[in-house]
Order: sequence, then structure tokens, then C-alpha cells
Amino acid sequence: MKIDGKTRLVGILGDPVAHSLSPGMQNAALASLGLNICYVPLPVEPEQLPEAVAGLRAMQFRGANVTIPHKIAVANLLDSLDVSAVRTGAVNTIVNNDGTLTGHNTDGIGFIRALAEVAKVDFSEAPALILGAGGAARAVAVALAENGCPRITIINRTPERANQLKTLLVSEFPAAEVTVRAWEADLGESLAQNRLVVNATSLGMKSNLKQAWAGVDKLTASHVVCDLVYSTKQTSLLTAAKEKGATLMGGTGMLLHQGAASFKLWTAREAPLDVMRKALEP
Ligand code: NAP
Repeated sequence: MKIDGKTRLVGILGDPVAHSLSPGMQNAALASLGLNICYVPLPVEPEQLPEAVAGLRAMQFRGANVTIPHKIAVANLLDSLDVSAVRTGAVNTIVNNDGTLTGHNTDGIGFIRALAEVAKVDFSEAPALILGAGGAARAVAVALAENGCPRITIINRTPERANQLKTLLVSEFPAAEVTVRAWEADLGESLAQNRLVVNATSLGMKSNLKQAWAGVDKLTASHVVCDLVYSTKQTSLLTAAKEKGATLMGGTGMLLHQGAASFKLWTAREAPLDVMRKALEP
């Protein structure tokens, strides 16, 4: 990559960002198309988010990705929001057009495209169980409702956040049947009633299968099980689902496709998926 006086910047705002796979993936894509843009990690603590966003504008960044814990808070600091960000109430991509910052959310489309790579899902026939109610869960829930999923069940450790997501979904998609179940409720029962299962909590690799996923024995070969945590290793949920013959989706596919959608917003070019996929290989 050649840096010169005309190089534009994009980056990822988060706390922490040192583990992020996005710089490697995005720089490989930018370089392969010969674009004079460089993608940099931008570690920003929550109290410094306003200054960081002002800095993007001041330094004429072309845009940025936004990750934990800023996806919701950043929305209030931007000039406008795309419908994808309004519907989810979360921003994962900022585009800077001549000083006007617009927030987008590409997580939902990233999820749908990644899912399409592992399974042919008729969403109208696929009631879904979503574990979690944070930014990723919101994006997935909205994407599923947009694609005609008729029944969505939400389970979250903090019930208020699950209820907030339900309110958001019901107001945007009155035809969808949305149910909130308690974190302590029988997970096996919820699994048995749904076809698509999405873990959008940040429990990730740390989760202890016995405690966190009691009831996974109710999974079957007709389930499609997604764990959004970014990891090239199999999570304990996916390991249990594999034993039952379920179709599996890890977080890497969603990372790839949300990144490709962000890339297109910044560059107006189709993202080189093969290059990005290769850059994500361990
Ligand atoms: P977030 O907004 O901070 O939400 C975190 C969620 O995890 C909340 O529902 C939270 O529940 C739950 N949670 C956290 N710790 C927990 C625990 N110990 N026990 C039970 N629940 C717990 O984060 P996010 O942006 O939605 O991200 C969630 C996960 O998705 C992360 O692993 C992230 O890396 C992944 N992700 C992946 C992609 C991708 O492209 N693959 C994209 C986005 C996110 P409470 O509400 O009770 O706190």
C-alpha cells in the first residue's frame, strides 16, 4: 500500500479495537482495487466519542466503521441517518460526504448474505429465536422481519432491552409476531419452537455450554444455528448444534458481508469478496 499526500482515511471506532479483523480485510480489498484509501484502527473510549466523531469530520475521513460500545451512542452525533440505522437504532458505518456524516447499518444485510451462503432459508417458513438484544440482535431482528420472518422470539439477560427491541419491531413491522421470553426460561422449549437460532450475545467463546446453553439437546437437523461472535474457532453453541446435524453459520461470514457493504458505501465499488475472504483466513 502506497501512502501519499492524497491518501484518504477510513477506520474503525471502538473500545477495544486491537483484536479487530476489519483493518486487514478492508486494506486488502482497497489495495486490490488500487484505491488510495487506508483503513486504520481508532481506539476511542466512550467519553471521547464526540471528539472522535468531530475528528473524522475535521480530518476529512471518507468514513468509518463503528463497533462495541459505540454503535448506539454514535447515532446522536451524526448529521443524518440512513433508514437501515433508523430502523435498528444502531450505526456500524459512517459515510462522510463533504463534511456531512451519515450513519448506516450494514450488519443486517451482512447477516442475510452470510446466511444465504450456508442455507437456502424461506424466511416466511422460518420462525426465529434471537438470543441477545444489543446492536447485533437489533440488526438481525430487523433484517429477518424485513425478509418476511413471521415469528420472532427474543431472549435477553436484561429483559428491558428485550422489550425495547420488541417495541421497535412491532412499530416497524406490525404483521410480525414478536415474543419476549425470560433468560431463565426453558431454552430447550424455545429451540423446539423455532427453526432459525441466532446467538447475538457477546457470550462468545467464553460461554460454558452447560450453564449458558442448557436445552441445546432440543436442536435437530432441521435447525439453522448462527453464532455471530467473530471467531474462526467453533463456539460451544455451534459445536452442540453440529452434533445434532443442524446447519451452522459462524460470525466470519457476517463480518465479511457487512464489511463488503460498508466498502461499497465508501468507494461506490463492488467489494472484492474473494480478497476479503482470504484476508480473514487464520
Ligand atoms: P452489545 O450491543 O454490547 O450487546 C451485547 C449483548 O450480549 C446484549 O444482549 C447483552 O445482554 C448480551 N450479553 C453480554 N454479556 C452477557 C452475559 N455474560 N450473559 C448473557 N448475555 C450477555 O454488542 P453487539 O454489538 O450486539 O455484539 C454482540 C455479539 O455479536 C458480539 O460477540 C459481537 O462481536 C458480535 N457481532 C458480530 C458481527 C459479525 O459481523 N459477525 C457483527 C456485530 C456483532 P444485556 O442486554 O443483558 O447486557
